[in-house]
Parts: sequence; structure tokens; C-alpha cells
Amino acid sequence: MTRSWAEPWKIKMVEPLTMTTRTEREEAIRAAHYNTFLLKSDDVYIDLLTDSGTSAMSDRQWSAMMLGDESYAGARSFYKLVDAVHDIYGYEELIPTHQGRGAEHLLSQILIKPGDVVPGNMYFTTTRFHQERAGGKFVDVIIDEAHDPKSMHPFKGNIDLAKLAAVVDEVGSERVAYVSFETNVNLAGGQPASMANIKAVYAYCESVDILVMLDATRALENAYFIQQREAGYEDRSIASILRQIADHSHGATVSSKKDNLVNIGGFLALRDPDLAREARALLVAFEGLHTYGGMAGRDMEALAEGIREMVATDDHARSRVGQVEYLGDKLIKYGVPVVKPIGGHGVFLDAAAILPHIPLDEFPAQALAAAIYVDSGVRGMERGNVSAGRDPVTGKNRHPKLELVRLTIPRRVYTQSHMDVVAESVIEVYEQAETITGLRFTYEPESLRFFQAEFESVS
Ligand SMILES: *Cc1c(COP(=O)(O)O)cnc(C)c1O
Repeated sequence: MTRSWAEPWKIKMVEPLTMTTRTEREEAIRAAHYNTFLLKSDDVYIDLLTDSGTSAMSDRQWSAMMLGDESYAGARSFYKLVDAVHDIYGYEELIPTHQGRGAEHLLSQILIKPGDVVPGNMYFTTTRFHQERAGGKFVDVIIDEAHDPKSMHPFKGNIDLAKLAAVVDEVGSERVAYVSFETNVNLAGGQPASMANIKAVYAYCESVDILVMLDATRALENAYFIQQREAGYEDRSIASILRQIADHSHGATVSSKKDNLVNIGGFLALRDPDLAREARALLVAFEGLHTYGGMAGRDMEALAEGIREMVATDDHARSRVGQVEYLGDKLIKYGVPVVKPIGGHGVFLDAAAILPHIPLDEFPAQALAAAIYVDSGVRGMERGNVSAGRDPVTGKNRHPKLELVRLTIPRRVYTQSHMDVVAESVIEVYEQAETITGLRFTYEPESLRFFQAEFESVS
């Protein structure tokens, strides 16, 4: 008999949810211009828009907040955070920021000169935005399997070393600002890189004198997959694997709104004190003084506790990813096209396969996310043509190979019964997919357009 698992926490406080009727939801999605980002959360039943900043904090994190030292300079809470990052990730230099993109901004400004190339595994929206804004050219060097939603490769987040070496050979290592190595690649569906690949990339970069900067936002989930899938790591703790990932880098940007179990915060971590000094000089202009960056003292307390808590036992990571797999397996069993293997933070529906009758320029994933909301009040988001934006040279929609709807699971927030409700809704929408029609822009923002774009139905 297979034995069930359950969440390794119990509920101490509840937040009531709003239930709406189908008619109310049809009205709400029209008012939100078919963009789930523009819905009011009061009109949402189960919110799977993002796992960013939506985690439930523990009783220990809440009590730590009461200890926040709100001194402008040199706050005790800052030094607790420095210790936590050093103990768990091993980085010596900590630059606190308001969230991940604040760290990406600083890193891009100190390392990228106009005309530089930044190779990375797939891309992340805000990361690439800051790299391009600093004058860099992002080049995708992820393995081909990452772009194939049916490939069962266990490490679809891997960097293709041949592609990376080709970039370096073409432009010369002095024009490569750094390698932007994302752990558990978000836009590939939450897919990990293997330790073998992380080590190989680092060794290669050392040999050609190029820095490796991790996007370690999801390094915990990546560490969990290494433990589950890579030979030699099955008996290692997730904490020790996470540390080994960080050991193979020269620094990292982290959005603490994900793995780190807080609602706001982030950091840039570095090893080189001179680089850290450059970053701190910008920090005071863009974020805040170097001992708080963009965070209050209480935020840093909750973050320091969250960083320790996420690796205190392996149970947290196992149940976090286990809940995602639980939802994914239900959909797979029913034959709904999803990105496989199921990733670390969400289930990614293959909208191009579910809605083959909607052309890419009519945004099938955007339309599918709206249809699921109308069916059940479950809010997901588009990750495809709208998110990818336009090519700055040609001005055309980028047409990424993946046209997905992301159902992202917040940490420690929903139970398995919520996952059952979500699965049933997705299955019902899938069965009536041919009734869904495409969308066109009525307002298209110039950058990061998915956040604020407005649409109307083409029918
Ligand atoms: C969320 C995220 C970011 C950006 O972080 P913010 O805190 O939202 O600014 C960067 N990289 C990855 C992989 C992310 O998931």
C-alpha cells in the first residue's frame, strides 16, 4: 500500500476565502481586461497567480518580527541576516534589497558594460530586463530539452556547455559580463540543474576567468530535486546540497519572497569585497542604507528565521514540492497536457496543446488563464507570448517555444483539498477547450507587458 503524506505543519490562524458565482467572475474578468494580474484578490477563490511573497510565515517568524531593530544604521536585525545567509549559503558579503529585482538591478549595473554579453539558462523577466537596461545582450544557453514540454530530462535547467563555450569563443571572455545561472529555472517550469552541471559550468568559467552569478531564488527546490534524482546525493541533507550549489558561484541574487518564506525582501550576496563595495555605493541611492537596503528591521528578522527554517529539516522542501507534484499527477492522470517532469513551484499547463485552434498572436495561454478563472475562481497566470514581450530589434512578438499557464503553489498556504478543487476545474475547462476564443491587446505596455496589459476577446 502506498502511504499518504501530509503537510508538516498545523494551522494556527485562518483567513476566510471569498466564494463567487460564475456570473460575478465573468463580470470580474471583463473588468480586469482578461488579465489575471488585474483581478482584485477579493474576487479570487484559490490564488495560484504566484508563489512570490505569498508564503505563510511560521509562528517563529511572526514572533521574530517583534524583535526587529529599526535603527537606521547598524541594526542588530541586519547582522542576524548576515549570519543566516553566511551559515546557510556561505556567502561573506550581503547587500540587502527590497526584493529580487533590486539585487538584479545592482548586479547588472556593477558588472555589465554596454555591448557585453550575458549568457544564461533561459531567462527571467526582471533579470533580463535589468541586464538589457544596463546595455547587455542576453544569450540563452540552456539545453534544448528545456524548450520541449514533453522531454522527461530530469535536469532541464542545465546549461549547455557547448552553447556557452561557443558564446565565449565568439565574443571573447572579456566581453562576457558573467554567466547568469538560474537555479530551478522558473520559466522552464521550475526545472532544476544537476550538481554535475553546476560544477562543470563553474570549472569552465574559472578556466576562462568569467564570474558565475546564481539566481539562487529557487536553490532550495533545486537542491531537493538533486537529492531525489542525482546519484550520490540521496543520503545528503538538503541543507548540505544547497550549500554545495552556492559554493560553485561567485555570488547570487535572491528574491526572498520564494524559498526564503517571507512576504517581502531579497539580497545580493557576493564573495569579492571590492565588488560588494561597488554594489553598496549604488545601494544607498536606489534601495536604502547598506544595513537595511529595502527592508525594515522586522523584515530582516523574519527573513533570517525563514532562511534557517527552510533547511532545518528536509520535510519542508519535500512537502512543498510534494504538493506541486500531487496537483500535477492528478492532471497527468487525466491526460491534460502539462510540462513534464512536474517542476518545483507550480504546474505549467501547455496552452498551445490545449488550445491548438488559437494562433500564438491571439495569446492562447492568456485566454486559458482567463477561462480557468471564470470556471472556478482559481487564478493562474500566463507564461508565454505575452510574458516574452517583443524582440527589441524586429519589434515582433517573440513566440517562445513554451506557451504556458502557470498554476503556482504558495508555500504552506493551501491544503491538498484545495489542490483537488483546482484539478477538477482545469479538467473541466480542458474538456470544453474548443469553446475558448483568442484575445487581442487593447493596451500594451512597453516593458514587462504581462503585468499591466489589457485585452479583449477576438470573437
Ligand atoms: C521572482 C523571481 C525573481 C524576481 O524577484 P522579485 O522579488 O519578484 O523582484 C528573479 N528570479 C526568479 C527565478 C524569480 O522566481
